[in-house]
Amino acid sequence: MSAPREPLLLRRWPGLDLGHVPLGTAPTPVRRLEGLVDDVDLWMKDESRFGDGAWAGNKVRKLEWIIPEAARRRTNTVFTVGGIGTHWGLACALYGREHGLRTVLGLVDQPVDDHVRQQLARLEASGATIHRYPTARQLRVAAPWLIATNIRRGKVPWYLPAGGSNAVGTLGYVETALEIAEQVERGELPEPSTIVAAVGSGGTAAGLVLGLRLAGLSTRVFGVVVNDSFALDAPVIAGLATKTAELLSSRGATELPVIGAADLDTADDWLGRTYGDPTPASVAMVAKGAAAGLELEPVYTGKALAAISDLAPTLDGPVLWLNTHGPR
Ligand SMILES: *Cc1c(COP(=O)(O)O)cnc(C)c1O
Repeated sequence: MSAPREPLLLRRWPGLDLGHVPLGTAPTPVRRLEGLVDDVDLWMKDESRFGDGAWAGNKVRKLEWIIPEAARRRTNTVFTVGGIGTHWGLACALYGREHGLRTVLGLVDQPVDDHVRQQLARLEASGATIHRYPTARQLRVAAPWLIATNIRRGKVPWYLPAGGSNAVGTLGYVETALEIAEQVERGELPEPSTIVAAVGSGGTAAGLVLGLRLAGLSTRVFGVVVNDSFALDAPVIAGLATKTAELLSSRGATELPVIGAADLDTADDWLGRTYGDPTPASVAMVAKGAAAGLELEPVYTGKALAAISDLAPTLDGPVLWLNTHGPR
């Protein structure tokens, strides 16, 4: 066994009053992707293996900070929400269980394909308490009741928004951005002009924006919005980055940058009809990825790659795509 990983955030501010549990192996590898998309110098940072349990991917990065924060808030239960194929809910249930944290899930119906069906089966086997609703509105109405009925011995469930995208979860991608900066420093990849990531709840993009600025890189974040269940544009994501900077500052970090909407780009042109809708372009990219040995899905990673493919002629310099999918 190697020594537990010390997060770069805690190395930067040794006195930072934040807990961290290592749930995956970092840094995740970066490599050039040949032949997947034409006309662009494309690199991949592979978050798909990040995690030690039955599920990996970008949500595990958030849980490294969320799980210890629950203990700090003196609760043993989290209540969170998502679609019936939620990667976030599954990661939360599986990693939470390993750390004594109970997960209550409010799930909303979404378009069902094989991947979603398989996810739902995994969710049902995960030990989470599951409540299902046909629409997000019905879930919102039921949420206060769900929280109240899941109070155990006076411990009130901590509400975590969809995707784990509160300021605490977003720290996972501040950490990842610092990691990318180190990899650039070591010459493992050229400094990217752009990092492209799918945006489902915003924490990944927000964390990257803040972390890249902290690291002093001028790389821009391009968020490919794949969710229309709530507002997810540059001002919203910059707002989450700002809240994360405020959290860091309240826990002892210094010299934090001011983030604004002009610090990133977003577009929802690859969303299709709605969240979870596999577009022809995303399905085609999943097939191309499979031919190149990558296991992708059409809801997030397929759409991010479809965006890169369409934008390729306009993208100058190296592009780093964050492979956020985490099958095991
Ligand atoms: C959740 C998810 C994303 C989006 O991350 P957010 O932080 O929710 O924006 C991207 N890709 C995959 C595979 C995901 O499960």
